[in-house]
Amino acid sequence: MNELYCRNCDKWKPLNAMKKEKRNRSGYMNMCNQCHYAKYKKNLRIRIDNSRKKADEYGVMNVLLKAEFAEVKAKKRCIYCGNEISGFNSTVDHVTPMKLGGPNARANVVQACRSCNSSKNHKPVYQFYLESETFTDELYAAFLDEFSQRNIGTPEQLDEVLRQQYEAEVGAGA
Ligand SMILES: [Zn+2]
Ligand SMILES: [Zn+2]
Repeated sequence: MNELYCRNCDKWKPLNAMKKEKRNRSGYMNMCNQCHYAKYKKNLRIRIDNSRKKADEYGVMNVLLKAEFAEVKAKKRCIYCGNEISGFNSTVDHVTPMKLGGPNARANVVQACRSCNSSKNHKPVYQFYLESETFTDELYAAFLDEFSQRNIGTPEQLDEVLRQQYEAEVGAGA
């Protein structure tokens, strides 16, 4: 028994052509590598297209490249709660929401789990930090370190910018 069945392309394939999955008893998914990769690419394209559509809707800078999006999405840990992420649970979050004028650009995106991404939603990241129990002080400090490397300034300066952004939004009654 050296072959497994791919439900997606409806073919029997040798084991080395099947997608590995530790959690399944067989050690493989019901899908071959080729189908899995095609699905991944399609899913990625849909998500990139959505981010570009939103950026146009909000009228913000729209320069995030496909490779940059894929690189962020491939990261294995949520930058906010620190949980491991993969597949459907792995999302790309705009640190300054596009609704608040944040660009759809490499300098403004991080990897986040679906849960953090949806609770953060259109809030300034500093507000999310204040409200979230899982986004701890340690994780916020690590976020400032990582995120400031892609922006101008030190983690301290970035913290200041993010606090001001939060106060401006709250002051505006957001
Ligand atoms: Zn297949
Ligand atoms: Zn998270």
